[in-house]
Amino acid sequence: MKIRFLGTAAGGGLPQWNCACGPCNAARRIGIDRTQDCLAISGDAKAWYLVNASPDLRTQLLRTPELTPGPGMRETPLRGVLFTSAELDHTLGLLSLREGGELTVHATQTVLDALPWLPILDHYTKLTRHRLVCGEPLTLDGDLTVTPIALGGKQPRYASDRPAAADWVIGLRFTGGSGGSGRSLIYAPGLESFTTDIVDADVVVLDGTFLTANEFAARGHLPIQDSLPLLRSHPGPRYLYTHLNNTNPVGDADLAQTGAEVAPEAGLIEL
Ligand SMILES: [Zn+2]
Repeated sequence: MKIRFLGTAAGGGLPQWNCACGPCNAARRIGIDRTQDCLAISGDAKAWYLVNASPDLRTQLLRTPELTPGPGMRETPLRGVLFTSAELDHTLGLLSLREGGELTVHATQTVLDALPWLPILDHYTKLTRHRLVCGEPLTLDGDLTVTPIALGGKQPRYASDRPAAADWVIGLRFTGGSGGSGRSLIYAPGLESFTTDIVDADVVVLDGTFLTANEFAARGHLPIQDSLPLLRSHPGPRYLYTHLNNTNPVGDADLAQTGAEVAPEAGLIEL
């Protein structure tokens, strides 16, 4: 299994275009650029899937060697997109894939029904909607299996009038891969509250939006200072924080000795 961190920031990225907070100013000064949360994953290093499609998707695809098209004129290793929520920072990039001849989207029915871009994309590409059901494993190309985990009912602001559901936000547990390592990854960039469902993997990539509860309006995101002690009581997996908001000053140095890390922007993990 190969996992490429296409983007590791929350909505707005780091620095955010209109923000002069401490971390944003420091990022401009040092030249740090964290793009918005998105992952690429493959079981066989040939068939690749996106997990979420950020507004920075074009930039992310162009800098990722594994996702280079060819040898056919319009041949791409991209087999589909899986969504962990319907939030704008996770889904707006789907519109940037409209040039593809076909496009398969995997999401819960709740998210499929809410996403405004799907009916728009029907006019541009052959769009296939595939429903993810929490607890039900799905086999993907490249010998990859994904099992969705229900994580919360926080709906996007644009969809606040839609019915409540327990699967507005999900995590994804990946296993398999042609190497036969039997290893697993859980991706949970939006975590409202802790559940042991998310620690059952070799590598856990989780919500690092906020460091503390009073940093910002933290609804829907368990702050690092609250999740870290819980992770430490479940040793074993490698823990990486992603989806960092631009107000979040946390860095690897701050997490040293805690057993957790900050997900490396554009970095690769092999399992
Ligand atoms: Zn900022």
